[in-house]
Amino acid sequence: MVQMERCKLATKRLSFYIDGQLSDKARLVVEKHLSTCKYCQNEAILLWNARLVLKSFSSVRIPTSLDKKFTKELYK
Ligand SMILES: [Zn+2]
Repeated sequence: MVQMERCKLATKRLSFYIDGQLSDKARLVVEKHLSTCKYCQNEAILLWNARLVLKSFSSVRIPTSLDKKFTKELYK
């Protein structure tokens, strides 16, 4: 259940992450977790979709390293 606890922490941060409001250090923690956790990847995609509905595409800051991955997930 350690994984679940980690995911709760990451999920809390995901919305800030998607909004680009995390510090560099916090962002790295989230990105590292995202790279290994399917659950949080899905959460991030859901959150990103929600942001896309609420905001114009250009105002959503997606880290370049994850941009292609998420785009691929969104449009498959
Ligand atoms: Zn997770």
